[in-house]
Amino acid sequence: MTDHYAVVGNPVAHSVSPRIHAEFARQTGQDLDYVSLPAPLDGFAARIADFRSRGGKGVNVTLPFKHEAWQLAEAHAGYALAAGAVNTIDFRNGKIIGYNTDGVGLVQDIRENLRCAIKGKRVLLMGAGGATYGVMEPLLREHPEQLVAANRTLQKAIDLVGHFENLQRCSVRGVSARPYPELRYSRFDIVINATSAGLTDQMPPLPAGIFEPDSLAYDMVYGKRTPFMKFAAEHGARVSDGTGMLVEQAAESFFIWRGVRPQTAPVIALLKGVNSES
Ligand code: NAP
Repeated sequence: MTDHYAVVGNPVAHSVSPRIHAEFARQTGQDLDYVSLPAPLDGFAARIADFRSRGGKGVNVTLPFKHEAWQLAEAHAGYALAAGAVNTIDFRNGKIIGYNTDGVGLVQDIRENLRCAIKGKRVLLMGAGGATYGVMEPLLREHPEQLVAANRTLQKAIDLVGHFENLQRCSVRGVSARPYPELRYSRFDIVINATSAGLTDQMPPLPAGIFEPDSLAYDMVYGKRTPFMKFAAEHGARVSDGTGMLVEQAAESFFIWRGVRPQTAPVIALLKGVNSES
């Protein structure tokens, strides 16, 4: 019997998650379908209840409902508790169990696909929104030497750091919040853009001298070359968009639901429009 999954968001028609999960299902021989399910801004919980009552096995959650999904969850597993945001719901065992797989996806893409160790590195994390909260704990568990959080609204970066200090779920040694202008005296090995600036062709106010020649500049935005990516390339950094993170977080959701790990490289190549055989 075919099992049903969906991604719920508003808007959600643009989501490539159905394509990713269709590839995973084909690859692993799993009998499932996966659709985009728009929810009205005031109707997230009702949409979830309806999908579940029709036999849905699980959902992914995207903007703007990740925090609401966290509130709706009856239990938080993995990194969801600290993140305060849920992007994966599993309905197994009669419960709404919330997970956050964004950080696993980011770390997997940086460490395995891009072959860039995080351990012992100086990391700059820009942004203090939902995505940043989702990736903080998995990043810290890689033991970077330093993690600097920077955000346009500085207080939000301070709150972010305070949140993880207070939770004491992992070491926060070397973690600090700093305003952008202060970064001009610093160098970073990994610079992660977790802001939404690239969506509107903007970039955070980064000083030029922060990159080393072999620094990795990672933009979570996918499917476009953002001003941050152009800026980083011009200043000698190795650049990646967030396509790999998107596919890896989906693979983690698939594993939670199905207990099977799909291969991600062919799907990343597919989305990037590159023939993985070449
Ligand atoms: P969010 O909660 O709306 O937060 C947006 C953040 O971006 C805030 O910190 C905001 O700063 C900052 N920002 C926006 N415009 C800016 C600008 N022009 N200059 C400097 N900072 C700016 O969004 P989110 O959920 O964290 O998502 C952030 C991005 O990550 C989105 O583009 C999303 O698509 C992407 N994402 C990708 C994946 C993936 O799988 N690849 C997964 C999750 C998210 P203020 O606090 O000052 O407003």
